[in-house]
Amino acid sequence: MNLELSETQTLIRDTARKFAREKIAPRARALEREERFPTELFKELAEVGLLGVNIPARYGGAEAGVVAYALAMMEIAAADASTSVAMSVTNMCAELIHAFGTEAQREKFVTRLTSGEAVVGSFALSEPHAGSDPGALSTSAVRKGDKWVLNGSKQWITSGAYAGVMVVWARTSPAGNKGLSCFIVEGGTQGLIIGRHEDKMGLRSSNTVSLTFEDCEIPEDQLLGKEGEGFKLAMVALDGGRIGIASQACGVARAALEASVRYTKDRKAFNQPVADFQAPRFMMADMKVQLSAAELLTLRAAHMKEQGRPFTREASMAKLYASEMANRVCDKAVQLHGGYGYIDEFPVERYFRDARVQTIYEGTSEVQRMVIAREIFKLFS
Ligand SMILES: Cc1cc2nc3c(=O)[nH]c(=O)nc-3n(C[C@H](O)[C@H](O)[C@H](O)COP(=O)(O)OP(=O)(O)OC[C@H]3O[C@@H](n4cnc5c(N)ncnc54)[C@H](O)[C@@H]3O)c2cc1C
Repeated sequence: MNLELSETQTLIRDTARKFAREKIAPRARALEREERFPTELFKELAEVGLLGVNIPARYGGAEAGVVAYALAMMEIAAADASTSVAMSVTNMCAELIHAFGTEAQREKFVTRLTSGEAVVGSFALSEPHAGSDPGALSTSAVRKGDKWVLNGSKQWITSGAYAGVMVVWARTSPAGNKGLSCFIVEGGTQGLIIGRHEDKMGLRSSNTVSLTFEDCEIPEDQLLGKEGEGFKLAMVALDGGRIGIASQACGVARAALEASVRYTKDRKAFNQPVADFQAPRFMMADMKVQLSAAELLTLRAAHMKEQGRPFTREASMAKLYASEMANRVCDKAVQLHGGYGYIDEFPVERYFRDARVQTIYEGTSEVQRMVIAREIFKLFS
């Protein structure tokens, strides 16, 4: 693995950094207070290639690869985790349709995602009674003439009220994991009902809703991949998605560390800057070591995916470590700010709340450990 960034990777990272600092960071606090999903930002993110970083130019993507995608995610997340999760899910949907879709599906749906015409994408796997175990999901899809008819409900769907293109999992037969199939559903389809926006601890300008399908008819050519192949598609998508969440965690943690350095240089106690005491300095040294370890794990997983090598274990390791690291680092950042860390005048309380979900979504830490252990034991079987 080459630890130097290529010209393209540097360009994407710098573009994302400039965009994040100029267009997102100044509004992040207000957006979260208003709980407002910034629809207009996604058109601009599309214009700079960030809604299809690893998608070929032919379908409107930046064709810059997975490492560039991880770097871009880190930059956007450092400004606003809410914006970055919608960016992550949109890239994930575009990649999934690109990987498993027909040419017609790629031309129709991938380009809508990369261009921002769809605003964003949504990934609808979880259900009220099936999160860690997607094999237990019960939304059904039944073939009727040249249509599929979907019935059931989904829970926790990021950007669900705004997405023009969704990938939705449903059961096409009772046969456990093999009975799952994946479908492309357009926002606004009749029979697709958007539930209320969840009132969350963090990510408050990210939209999280339930979806209900009531005799929702979609054309038969919106089956993605083959019938019964849905579980495989979900696992492939989640492997890639975990690199996105690991990158998000790195971005948020970096922002928390930078805020802590700035604050402790400025804040005085006992007639000297807090940054001059050894205890806070050591705390920040530990934060930096853990952040760098997470960045390296994340970029290694991204590199392996980019090389076309198996990366399931590496993506889970990166997601597990980076998400737990971000929680520790953001907790320390609040501590380093003293009482000011607990109020919204400073950004670290937002980072702390935003980081909390990272050990939960796209597979909890426990699920990551299950995946990593399974992959280790495979080596010995
Ligand atoms: C803000 C937010 C956004 C989300 N966005 C999306 C989205 O866009 N699309 C989507 O499909 N989903 C989304 N999710 C859902 C998320 O992926 C699930 O919440 C997550 O996978 C956990 O599922 P669960 O909530 O049902 O928890 P459960 O599966 O009920 O788990 C509860 C606890 O049990 C533990 N556990 C479960 N099984 C095991 C086991 N075998 N061994 C050990 N421990 C176990 C878990 O680790 C956890 O600690 C989102 C969630 C949130 C909070």
